[in-house]
Amino acid sequence: MTGTAQSARILIRGGRVYDHDGDVHQPAQTDILVGGERIERIGPNLPADAGVEIIDAAGKLVAPGFINAHYHSHDVMAKGLFEEMPFDIWTLHSNPANYGPRTLAEVRLRTLLGAAESLRNGITTIQDFLTLVPQDEAIVDTVLSAYEEAGIRVVFAIAARDRAALDIAPFIPKDLPEAIRRRIAGSDRKAKDELDFITAQIRRLGNNPTARQTWALAPSAPQRCSQELLEGIAALSRELAMPVFTHVYETRIQAAAARQQPSATSLIDVLARAGLMNEHLNIVHGVWLTAHDIAQIAEAGARVVHNPVSNLKLKSGIAPILDLHRAGVDIALGCDNYSCAETQNIFLAMRMLCLLPAVTDPEPGPINAAYALRAATLAGARAVGLSHKIGALKPGMIADLMILDLREPAFVPFNSAARQIVFAEAGRAVETVLVGGRPVVRNSRLVAVDEAALAAEVDEIAPAFRRDAQTLAARNADLVAPLLNANREAWKVSLGFERYVGRGST
Ligand SMILES: [Zn+2]
Repeated sequence: MTGTAQSARILIRGGRVYDHDGDVHQPAQTDILVGGERIERIGPNLPADAGVEIIDAAGKLVAPGFINAHYHSHDVMAKGLFEEMPFDIWTLHSNPANYGPRTLAEVRLRTLLGAAESLRNGITTIQDFLTLVPQDEAIVDTVLSAYEEAGIRVVFAIAARDRAALDIAPFIPKDLPEAIRRRIAGSDRKAKDELDFITAQIRRLGNNPTARQTWALAPSAPQRCSQELLEGIAALSRELAMPVFTHVYETRIQAAAARQQPSATSLIDVLARAGLMNEHLNIVHGVWLTAHDIAQIAEAGARVVHNPVSNLKLKSGIAPILDLHRAGVDIALGCDNYSCAETQNIFLAMRMLCLLPAVTDPEPGPINAAYALRAATLAGARAVGLSHKIGALKPGMIADLMILDLREPAFVPFNSAARQIVFAEAGRAVETVLVGGRPVVRNSRLVAVDEAALAAEVDEIAPAFRRDAQTLAARNADLVAPLLNANREAWKVSLGFERYVGRGST
């Protein structure tokens, strides 16, 4: 599945073309000429030369493809298995290390399944922050080849961590049985092994494994990595000008644990000491950032990737979107993994981005639909290191786009493209999707993947995965009560601010 069809030229004729800088409510009707992977021209009544495929977009809306800036493909098979689990308990049930190695057939199917739903929902670029168990290059090859098969753009990152303890470990009572404490502590790995594997994979496959594939770096979280590992990642990022993604202050426990350290370590300072606080850095989640942290992020030109659905489903709280925006911090959007957010849907993430500020602020504000569309496209492109290539429909940019059917109920009557994309649509209107100028979705179905056959193959392996999840849940049963107790213990640490509405009020 290499891109032999990529040199085709396509004329998308007569659609309304969404322009971030134009009329975001009633985009002008115009044509887009795509040559190879790029947009060649945009303008009315473009001529259709011989050999050009014409896509009739009359009555349709052409919009830039979405960039999902936070996703993990390792647990696609766990979709729908969990709920009512605060973060650390969910981690215990979903961490790939607790499942052991999976077959390459399963790895291929789960990757295809995530890519298929993403494309159907207009996501043209996905940042996959993948935990490999074991760290084996055959898994890397299987994942990248599945993405290429589906035709989605991927910014691929191999998760790195050398400290195994659960984030909640500092709050685990010392008098618990040693066996339980050992399981919460896990077994550490070596920074050098993590760095060597990642470096070897990037060297082996090159900076662009395919035209649609690039790399990012993914230290799991500052508290899960040694200083040596973080410094190694920073050096690689500098050398290869590569974006870095890391989970920071996703939960209150992580913020409380950092304050419990002998030196009351700020995780942002840990990143700064390692040389990571710069424009390549993407802080994933950032729910429990202080005002000082936010100022440091703005100063460094780093970004935040907001994952509203997983933050709520795991009871992590609500990120300080308005404070980040006021400080000038760029915000991209992520859908996070299937085991904690269930769906790859940026329409939903945009809607939550716009709606959540109202839980703390009754005033009209700046986080409107047009802003959400920029977050889902332009900010996402900056996050994954592809700005000026993807995120907007302009001549010279790569043709990553979707065509939405304006006769779908979400768009009737058609009062505002931006507002109806963000507040009314959920993905059903996505009819055609191009990635790198190549149609990968037509008539709301993947072009290169037989979705029914994929579903049938997944059905065959799903019972075995469910059994493994049940076995793991049984093994974890005696840890749940101690973890919930530790959670409650962590609540007693005062942070001086809250991310839960009304907590502490009478
Ligand atoms: Zn994550």
